[in-house]
Amino acid sequence: MTTAKPQPKPEPKPWIAQIHAYVPGKSKSASGQPLIKLSANENPLGSSPAALAALADAHVAADYPDPDARALREAIAQVHGLDPDRIVCGTGSGELLHCVVQALSGVGDEVLSSRYSFSLYPLLAHKVGAAAVFADDDGYAASVDNLLAAVTERTKVVLLDNPNNPVGTFLPPAEVARLHAGLPSDVLLVVDEAYGEYVDPALQHAAFELAAAHENVLVSRTFSKAYGLASERVGWVTGAPHLIDLINRLRGAFNVSVSGQKAALAAIGDQAFVAASREHNAAERERMAEAIAMLGNHGLSASPSEANFLLVHFEGEVTAAQALDALSDAGYAVRHLPSQGLPNALRITIGKSDDMTCVITALRTLCGEAA
Ligand SMILES: *Cc1c(COP(=O)(O)O)cnc(C)c1O
Repeated sequence: MTTAKPQPKPEPKPWIAQIHAYVPGKSKSASGQPLIKLSANENPLGSSPAALAALADAHVAADYPDPDARALREAIAQVHGLDPDRIVCGTGSGELLHCVVQALSGVGDEVLSSRYSFSLYPLLAHKVGAAAVFADDDGYAASVDNLLAAVTERTKVVLLDNPNNPVGTFLPPAEVARLHAGLPSDVLLVVDEAYGEYVDPALQHAAFELAAAHENVLVSRTFSKAYGLASERVGWVTGAPHLIDLINRLRGAFNVSVSGQKAALAAIGDQAFVAASREHNAAERERMAEAIAMLGNHGLSASPSEANFLLVHFEGEVTAAQALDALSDAGYAVRHLPSQGLPNALRITIGKSDDMTCVITALRTLCGEAA
C-alpha cells in the first residue's frame, strides 16, 4: 500500500484564519427547549402592520430588485430631511459598515472603537487584515478623550455605536462633535445609530448634521431594530458623496431584495409604529431599571441605557452565569458576553410587558426576595 502524499489544501490568508464567525443571540436552552429571545434586541412589538401588508403583497420573484433602491432612498430622505443622493442602502447596515472598513483600511491599518462596543466591529477589521484597536471605556461608556488618545497615524476608521451595544450608553451630540473635531480629517468617523430611533427625538438629527457638514463622517441606520424588520436585512448610511461612491463600488449590486425594499418603504411611512415602539421601550426599560436598582443590595446594577436593552451587572453573591441559567429555566434567552470581557453581566433586551414581569420575578426569586 502506498501512502498518499498529503495534498495541499486551499490556504486562507493569515488574517482570515484568526476570524471567529459572528455569534448571534441564543434562542434555545442547553437542553434544546425553545426560549423567548431577549438576546438579539429585536422589536417585541413585531413589525408595522403596513410593512406586513407590503410583504404579503405579491411581486414577480423572477425579477431583480431596483439596484439603487431609489424609492426607498427618497422616502428615507424625506422623513429625515436628507439628500437621497447622499444615501445608500444595504443588506442590513452591517454590509455598509463592512464596505467602508474595506474601502479605507487593510493590512497595517487600525480600526478604532470603544472597549465595549458592537461585536461585529473587530470582525470587520480582521476581514480586511487591519488591526482592531479598543480605547479604554469610562465606566463601560465610550470616552471621547480615550478614543482621541488612541488615534495613531495608522488609524483609518473610528466606529462609534451610539447608543452603544452592549452597554446602551449614549454620547450626547456635543460629545460626538468633540470626538469628530479632535480627529484628523483623513480619519473616517462612523456613527452607528442602529438604536437611534429609541433616543429622544430632539437629539436624533445631530449626527446627520455632522455627516452633512463634513467629508469624513458617515451615519448608519437600520430597519432591524425599532422598525422591526431584522429578517428583511435593510440598512442605510448617509454621508459625503465621495464616501457614498466608495460604498457603491463595493456593495452587492442587488443588495436589498424586492421584499426588503417594499417592507422598509412601508415601514418608514408608519412613524406611529416607531413612536409606539420607542414609548413601549422607554416605559418597560424604566420599570426594569427600577427593579434592578431594588436588587442593588444583592450586587445587581444596570448601566444607563438609551437603547432597547439593559446591561445588568452582577457583583454580589448571585453571578451572571447563575442568572443566565435561572432566566433560561424561566423560558428566556438573554446575552452573556464573557468573550467581550463582560463575564459578570447580562444584556437583556426589553421585551413585551408580561415577559419583563417574568424576568423581574425570576431575578428577584434568584436573589431570595419575594417575587
Ligand atoms: C443590531 C445592530 C446593527 C444592525 O445590523 P443590521 O445589519 O442592520 O441588522 C448595527 N449596529 C449595531 C451596534 C447593532 O447593535
